[in-house]
Amino acid sequence: MLKDKVCIITGSSRGIGKAIAIDFAKNGAKIVLNASSESETAINTIEEIKALGAQCILFCGDISKTDDAKGLIDAAVNEFGKIDVLVNNAGITRDTLILRMSEDDWDSVLDVNLKGSFNTIKAASRYMMKNNGASIINISSVVGVIGNPGQANYSASKAGLIGLTKSVAKEFSKKGVRCNAVAPGFISSDMTDALSDEMKQKYYDSIPLARFGKGEDVAKLCTFLASDLSGYITGQVINVDGGLAI
Ligand code: NAP
Repeated sequence: MLKDKVCIITGSSRGIGKAIAIDFAKNGAKIVLNASSESETAINTIEEIKALGAQCILFCGDISKTDDAKGLIDAAVNEFGKIDVLVNNAGITRDTLILRMSEDDWDSVLDVNLKGSFNTIKAASRYMMKNNGASIINISSVVGVIGNPGQANYSASKAGLIGLTKSVAKEFSKKGVRCNAVAPGFISSDMTDALSDEMKQKYYDSIPLARFGKGEDVAKLCTFLASDLSGYITGQVINVDGGLAI
């Protein structure tokens, strides 16, 4: 479905981003991985993807920093000559109640989750506009739609990402670039492993399909949104949440 498409996935050393990169690779894409710093995990991921027969590079850099985000885009163009798909997946949490939330808790989450996506979109846009059928996918969250106590910074960043998605969809549509948001519910990963058992049970009880999601559940939708099969879909927010936010 993605034969020879050049796909950048931010925050793809592990978790959902890694699952997206693997599904893209299985569908014939050329992959640009990213993590904030080089680690054994990131090196293992690039090896895993190359073992699938896909061309793959890793660029380590913090996407909340303008120069690093530009470096990521330049690395993709230098290696593969074009960009077809950009998935803004890198994200962090700093959960706490507003009364205890520091300015740094607020700024760091907004910087990575929202400004990071602005940085990569701005740097990638002139390349993506040259390609017919380019696609931007922003990984938001159901809490960006419904809110969550203890996650004011995170849910604000994810709601902001939805506004960014709709504006980019309108602004880039005449240049043939689509932009959609994916809103996962509870997906098993390092991010959700950090939650207490009590919190996990609370989420579990509110999921109609009665299971936690997997990275692959999100990846399948991303592959569709990255492919030409979704060529008439832009500006949408699609939940992958087992019904959590119904
Ligand atoms: P995760 O397991 O914590 O992985 C996060 C990834 O982002 C890692 O590869 C991490 O690598 C990278 N990263 C973090 N900060 C970065 C930065 N400044 N620059 C570049 N890369 C950075 O998270 P996940 O659960 O897979 O979540 C992926 C995305 O889905 C996030 O945007 C998250 O908000 C969203 N989401 C997750 C869930 C869920 O239930 N898991 C639900 C809704 C939405 P390094 O640490 O090496 O940099």
